[in-house]
Amino acid sequence: MSFFNSIGRSMTRAPRNAKRSPTPTSATFPPETQAPKQTQVAAPPAQKPLFLCSPFVEAALVKGNFKTIVMLPKYVDIMEWVAVNRCVLPMLLFDFYNNLNEFYGVLTEFCTQQNCPTMSAGTTLNYTWINQDRKHVHLPATTYIDYVMTWVQNMLNDDSVFPTKSGHDFPPSFPSTVKHIYRQLLRVFAHIYHAHFAQILHLRSEPHFNSLFAHFLAFGAEFELLEMRDLRGTSSAPVGVGALWERWKGMGILAVKS
Ligand SMILES: [Zn+2]
Repeated sequence: MSFFNSIGRSMTRAPRNAKRSPTPTSATFPPETQAPKQTQVAAPPAQKPLFLCSPFVEAALVKGNFKTIVMLPKYVDIMEWVAVNRCVLPMLLFDFYNNLNEFYGVLTEFCTQQNCPTMSAGTTLNYTWINQDRKHVHLPATTYIDYVMTWVQNMLNDDSVFPTKSGHDFPPSFPSTVKHIYRQLLRVFAHIYHAHFAQILHLRSEPHFNSLFAHFLAFGAEFELLEMRDLRGTSSAPVGVGALWERWKGMGILAVKS
């Protein structure tokens, strides 16, 4: 049984997010040209987030080094690796997406426009969205996440992006598309940890959620899909989960170089 099968079976199946907004078009969110950026906001009171406190920071389904579960062949570059293992990467991305979508599905009653008026991911960090007029705008987190998850789902279902038929080549833009998907999913993780970890604890789902995120990080680091600047943010606007990454590295859970 795979790691994700074990997660899927042990999790309470959540209903799909019922308030998914209409699919954003390429005019509102093309993959490379209109990436939301992060901006700094004022509100600094520093308090250690719950997800960095014991025992929650150690709560994970799989003990030990998460690199050991990234059991994929060595590769020279991602295109070469994909050519050999064309099914594995899309399958894993589907799994990350589906599991994250299920977690967010049970949090939607808490992640409302009132509770989360911006896409926060740290005490001084809110992500902004680039609208059709190419202006950076603050969106409620629920809207932002809705856009991201719908866009990722469309990417994963697009046969020109993720060819499923044998004989079809991956497009040259495939690595950058996958990195962009990774960046956006990371932001959803970052918001949930920052704004909704108390609810994750209430649901007693922190071992599952930590395991999912640790696997996401380990896989992203191993295959260079994860940009450290996205994970850490800036000194004035750090990403909350950047500290979690450092803690897990220090605990030996993530054996990664950077
Ligand atoms: Zn929220």
